[in-house]
This record gives sequence, C-alpha cells and structure tokens, in this order.
Amino acid sequence: MCDLCGGTHSVGGQDGSLLYIQPCPICGPISGAALVEKNKRMAKFDEELEAALQRYALAEKDVS
Ligand SMILES: [Zn+2]
Repeated sequence: MCDLCGGTHSVGGQDGSLLYIQPCPICGPISGAALVEKNKRMAKFDEELEAALQRYALAEKDVS
C-alpha cells in the first residue's frame, strides 16, 4: 500500500488557507475498478449503519 495516500489514491494538502485534495502523485488517480470497489464498501457501510439504527429504534421502543 502506498505510504503517501494509504491506498486512497487521493492526498490532501494545504496552500495558505486553502485546503485541497489531489490525486496521489505516486499511484495516480483512483482507477475505475478501485472506485467501484470503494463504492461497494460505502454501500455496505450504509446498510450496516441503517441496520444498527433500526436495532436502536427497536430498543428504544422496548424501553418506553
Ligand atoms: Zn498513493
């Protein structure tokens, strides 16, 4: 894994008061396949978050 971007293919920087994000100069912009993989992980995270929130909502109902 790349030390600079940590495998995200994007690095942040600061120029004066301006924050910016740019493609990693070592491994280059994120590839299509990697981007699809990243979106899959994000979708899975959303599902898990939704499930957790639903469990929480059910637990709240039990209390009241
Ligand atoms: Zn990199």
